[in-house]
Amino acid sequence: MLQQVELYSALGKAEQNDLFTKLGKIYANLPQTSCTGCATCCNWGSPPAFFIEYLNLYRYVRDNLKENWPDILKKSTEYFYLELVDTNQKCSFLSEDNRCSVYEVRPFTCRSYGLLSKEDFETGDRGLKKLAQKFKEEYDLTLPDEIINYELPWCDKVVSGQRSYIKKSTLAGLAAQIGTLDYPFFPQELVDQEGTLLPYPVHLMNTVLGTGTRARKIKVMKQFVDGGSKELLNGFVEKASSYRF
Ligand code: SF4
Ligand code: SF4
Repeated sequence: MLQQVELYSALGKAEQNDLFTKLGKIYANLPQTSCTGCATCCNWGSPPAFFIEYLNLYRYVRDNLKENWPDILKKSTEYFYLELVDTNQKCSFLSEDNRCSVYEVRPFTCRSYGLLSKEDFETGDRGLKKLAQKFKEEYDLTLPDEIINYELPWCDKVVSGQRSYIKKSTLAGLAAQIGTLDYPFFPQELVDQEGTLLPYPVHLMNTVLGTGTRARKIKVMKQFVDGGSKELLNGFVEKASSYRF
């Protein structure tokens, strides 16, 4: 579990060190793109974001989407607890009409999707088969096959201003540059092992809920899997909903 960082001091530190400008400059290395907007990639789950990207998203929502905050908190809490057991979980920023409500500040993972050739594209082993086995053995909890086996497909609908695919090593280099912006907040070793690259709801719950509440994830998952009940979860959603900017 990522160590909790006091949010407002982190935002202050990021601003003082001009980290959001630096982040924008790294993003600017990617070409402008357009696509059909089918939202397949946004329904897959919540994309991983570095801590600095989480701060950037947090700031954007605070300053531009205040009215969406209760909805984002609710969806993110549900996502945090149920991502591995509920096939309906999707990115908290996807609107009803399949649009990205934070497009301007979407994380690098979203910006770079569709920029690799089919040969280079791979989602990698998400380690879910191993995790599913562990959950079964330790908690008698069965993760749905649909979640364990799902792989985000390669997308050929992205039109890039660059007109050719980007090299995998170039994308990895840019991602590593973003990672360095997390150094002021976490040990370098953890950042380099991608320990700060987490879905937005995980970062947000780290801010909003205490360690004890987050540690009850297995209980919430089990209650949902065994009887479809969200009773425990609803209590945590209520708790998270009281968080104000
Ligand atoms: S990048 Fe591809 S999958 Fe994602 S919304 Fe665009 S067309 Fe759909
Ligand atoms: S942040 Fe936006 S682009 Fe990225 S997955 Fe969510 S809705 Fe889609």
